[in-house]
Amino acid sequence: MTATVRVMLFRDVAEGIHRLEIAHTNTYFVETGDQLLVVDAGLPAAWPHLQLAVLDLGYTPAQVEGLLLTHGHFDHVGTAARMHRDWGTPVYVHPGDRRLAAHPYSYRPQTNRLGFVALHPGGLLPLGRMLLAGAATVEGIEDTLPLESRAEVPGSPWIIETPGHTDGHVALHFADRDAVIAGDALVTFDPYTGGIGPRIVAPAATADVDTAVASLDGLVDTEAKHVLPGHGPTWSLGARAAVTQARRAAGAA
Ligand SMILES: [Zn+2]
Ligand SMILES: [Zn+2]
Repeated sequence: MTATVRVMLFRDVAEGIHRLEIAHTNTYFVETGDQLLVVDAGLPAAWPHLQLAVLDLGYTPAQVEGLLLTHGHFDHVGTAARMHRDWGTPVYVHPGDRRLAAHPYSYRPQTNRLGFVALHPGGLLPLGRMLLAGAATVEGIEDTLPLESRAEVPGSPWIIETPGHTDGHVALHFADRDAVIAGDALVTFDPYTGGIGPRIVAPAATADVDTAVASLDGLVDTEAKHVLPGHGPTWSLGARAAVTQARRAAGAA
């Protein structure tokens, strides 16, 4: 079944940052000199491709100094337990999402998901691809460290709290690369609706829409050129323009 999962590695989406897309879900590799950070762990079917990508980029698993999770949803945690076990990689998540990362199906979306997909058939195909990639079989990760203090996290990104999509969602600002990894605080493709362009994720998978819209200010403040979302392609026209479009899409312009 994994043969039907599309895998794409986009190199240098920002300086020293690479994007691996599998089943509409992004994992980022951030080069930090002679080591590598992984941001978000994708779906279970990503595992062999993550290993290949690390080698392809010229590193070994032993050089992966940390896995940073933007949040605890199943599609960002899918290989975390495996990576921790097989590579010994320390896993970081904000304390607000620690429990969710350990139990990735325990989240509370703002609306009923099944009814929502019935209203938005554009989400059927992407969600089907996510299911093929193991979306229903994710193992949680219990053993995590707090993604809270910049000084204690490998790569030292600025940690921008962006609650709303989940309570403990964070974006990671790599100021030296002019890039912010936005996770699901702002996406350029919404797998729940098939919607294209900068937007917050549909209420079907977002805990609190108003809070998620308010959190977009944190992305604007980075003034980053490159916005690297959890789903969809890179946006390189600046965080402010991305947020303007996302607010418009949410009817909150
Ligand atoms: Zn999410
Ligand atoms: Zn997601």
